[in-house]
Amino acid sequence: MNLIVQKFGGTSVENPETLKIVAQKIIDCKSKGNEVVVVVSAMGSSTDELINLANELSDTPSPREMDMLLSAGERITMSLLAMHLNNLGYESFSLTGSQAGITTTSRHGMAEIENISGERVKEGINEGKIVIVAGFQGVNKETKEITTLGRGGSDATAVALAAALGAEKCEIYTDVEGVFTADPRIVTKAKLIEEITYDEMLEMASSGARVLMARSVEFGRRYNVPIIVKPTFSEGSGTIVKDKVMEQAIVSGVTHNDKEIKFTLFGVPDQPGIAGKVFGPLSENGVIVDMIVQNVSKESKTDISFTAPLEQKSEVENILEKLSTELEAEGADSDPNIARVSLIGAGMKAESGIASKMFSILGENKINIAMISTSPIRISCVVNKDDMQKAIDSLHKEFIEA
Ligand code: ADP
Ligand code: ASP
Ligand code: MG
Repeated sequence: MNLIVQKFGGTSVENPETLKIVAQKIIDCKSKGNEVVVVVSAMGSSTDELINLANELSDTPSPREMDMLLSAGERITMSLLAMHLNNLGYESFSLTGSQAGITTTSRHGMAEIENISGERVKEGINEGKIVIVAGFQGVNKETKEITTLGRGGSDATAVALAAALGAEKCEIYTDVEGVFTADPRIVTKAKLIEEITYDEMLEMASSGARVLMARSVEFGRRYNVPIIVKPTFSEGSGTIVKDKVMEQAIVSGVTHNDKEIKFTLFGVPDQPGIAGKVFGPLSENGVIVDMIVQNVSKESKTDISFTAPLEQKSEVENILEKLSTELEAEGADSDPNIARVSLIGAGMKAESGIASKMFSILGENKINIAMISTSPIRISCVVNKDDMQKAIDSLHKEFIEA
């Protein structure tokens, strides 16, 4: 018998009406002779609402209490869905991440899955029941505390669970038809991608295509779990993320990320070891530093700029304030008015001139590039936030529509 893990995101489980549609997808899958394990997100934007509630009562809520609070969102969905399935005559029960045996590192708000024993999930499967697992959460073995996996973390729960249970595939149901060549809400001419490699999907997810959490793609690649991104509200076949694809485009997608801030440390002494002194404390504190630029040194002093996620703004500012004093730098500041646009494509490895063409297109559109970074299959440019839409449109037109 085939085992399929199905994950339903926030908009899919937004209210009782959409939960009924979700239940029907689960029943259809089960009726075809499959065993089904379901992973759910919190309803609609309830995770954001819980964060806002916390911020109304505290400027610096304790990370432990934040995880206790946020993990409740997924628990509401899982129990409601189980009740509804039971009501329809399908035996079903729900489990928290901890009850499902999902153990994680201890870092609250950004924990990583270390192991999934899945005992109670397997028991449920053996009894022919539909097991519903709360996404986005686990427990740390040493501290015994509940943890959450970071925004979008239910995707990681689903793919990791599929790997741990030896599922045939992991289906990620969402509010769009699948993975597109650009965010379909931003680019009207974005096209559905039928199949994409783990490597490209990982770059797309890491550079802003939030349809899948990057870590879920990493699990898929590591344990060879096919991931299918599908629509909840239609019958489309979606996008399959796998090892190899039939036709490799030069550029598969254009992504954007406007949820990062650019930080600059001014007038740092230009000496060996200085970069280590700056980025060491940032990484020790779990700051996800992305693009880095070090300016040409003037009078033995240099400016170092980098980008980091918006949600880590206050942590980074505190660290930079301390570093600025310790290193006798001339100060630090931050610029939230930036956005990153990226081209992703495994075919770029064998094709020269893509980067220069990208820079020319941005130049022709009078868009200034503040930072550049590349990987073998990605080119990213940081631009002014006001230029983001024009940048995405012009790059999509030249590289995808042309
Ligand atoms: P869920 O709640 O189902 O997890 P998310 O909001 O996390 O859904 O992800 C789905 C959203 O991702 C879509 O509504 C879409 O706007 C956005 N998105 C960004 N880039 C892409 C892309 N390249 N392809 C598809 N969706 C994308
Ligand atoms: N509810 C969490 C979030 O909004 C996790 C998820 O939906 O994947 O980020
Ligand atoms: Mg998501």
